[in-house]
Amino acid sequence: MAIAKTKEEGMNSQFLESRVGNRYRSKAKMSYTGHCGKEIVERVITSPEEAKKRIEALPRIAVTGRAARECIDIAYGFFTPLAGFMGKGDVDSVCKDMKLTDGTLWPIPIILDVDGKAVEQKSLKQVDDIVLTYSEKPLAILEIEEIYTYDKTQMAQAVFGTTDAKHPGVKMFDGLKDTFLAGKITLVSPPRFQPPFDKFWFTPKRMRQKIAEKGFKRVVAHQTRNVPHGGHEWLMKGAWFSTHGEMPVEKLQTGILVSCIIGPKRIGDYIDEAILLCQQKLNDARYFRDDVHMVSFVMWDMRYAGPREAILHAIIRENLGCTHHMFGRDHAGVGSYYGPYDAHRIFDQIEQGSLNIKPIRVLEWWYCPVCGEVTYSGLCGHSKERQAFSGTMIRSIVQDKVKPTRLIFRPEVFDELMECAEKYGFGSPFCTEEYLAKRQPVFELAEL
Ligand SMILES: [Zn+2]
Repeated sequence: MAIAKTKEEGMNSQFLESRVGNRYRSKAKMSYTGHCGKEIVERVITSPEEAKKRIEALPRIAVTGRAARECIDIAYGFFTPLAGFMGKGDVDSVCKDMKLTDGTLWPIPIILDVDGKAVEQKSLKQVDDIVLTYSEKPLAILEIEEIYTYDKTQMAQAVFGTTDAKHPGVKMFDGLKDTFLAGKITLVSPPRFQPPFDKFWFTPKRMRQKIAEKGFKRVVAHQTRNVPHGGHEWLMKGAWFSTHGEMPVEKLQTGILVSCIIGPKRIGDYIDEAILLCQQKLNDARYFRDDVHMVSFVMWDMRYAGPREAILHAIIRENLGCTHHMFGRDHAGVGSYYGPYDAHRIFDQIEQGSLNIKPIRVLEWWYCPVCGEVTYSGLCGHSKERQAFSGTMIRSIVQDKVKPTRLIFRPEVFDELMECAEKYGFGSPFCTEEYLAKRQPVFELAEL
């Protein structure tokens, strides 16, 4: 059956045409300049023959999932200007001054910890090249520039402002092995992302191409590890208004990038597949126009370093080509280690010009029965009547598979979540022991 085009759809296709016209103009202007004016890093061998030759005679060391994810991040330029794992000088400088030794703003050490015994057994030394393996397959070549140790307690104090072992970041640092290797990373093959991750995988260079194709002049990043509730949608829309600002209305040149964090999971977290597919559902069901909204992901193991981590998130999205980044209440925080708006204030404390992405600072949101909608602490004055959207409350509704009101959950998003539970979550939209044990990996490496 032919479907008549509505007036609005007609307008949309005009928009699309003007976008296509834009595409060629934009491509010419596309920039690969990332954080602090440095060229986006890309260090990946794409020819299996060449990779085989390069790794043949090299010693091998196995790395953890976190290190593997960070190798991929480094090699595709998410951490530009870093081309490898940091040496002691950079770690010192990052801890003390939040800068690399060359003065580039950088908040969190990016380090590779390995077993000291393995380094001894293989008599590894500075200037050696080694192969890092993950899941028993070759992942990357590391050109060792330095082998060193570091005081992990001192590093935790600098990054987290605490050495309390209950802080998950401190715990992670405590669990690091005692020998660190520094040096440049080159991936020996592009990772193969499994469905549904494959269609959301955009490296900084590819994301910049996509942004140019869409003709965006401004893009605001929304970081999430959640399936979108009504409040998240409201905040993204608010951030889009802030970012769009005084831009001309004839052509929409402001986009939203939903940048999901994919990393280690804990029991009770939403499953990764549902986070991506439910965010995309807001677009498929037209709560966001396709020409202003995109979903992708970054592999990162959260440190919960509050303000310092907010800076790192900003740098990653700057490298992805975003011009603005949304920061909510308690961004990247945990417990009561940081004030609810510390991650907002830190952007006033860094040197001007050290970051080429603007923070969009958002406050708290809630459901207000008097306003009859999801609203915002900066606007709604019905402070007595407000009803917080607690994650726990929403979780219990979802767990019981009861469809919540459309203000809390869009029905299409809820249906998608239930489908994901069946397809990927062994019946649950949240991580269970079974999911953690049996889930398919996010990516696989070539055999070589
Ligand atoms: Zn109200």
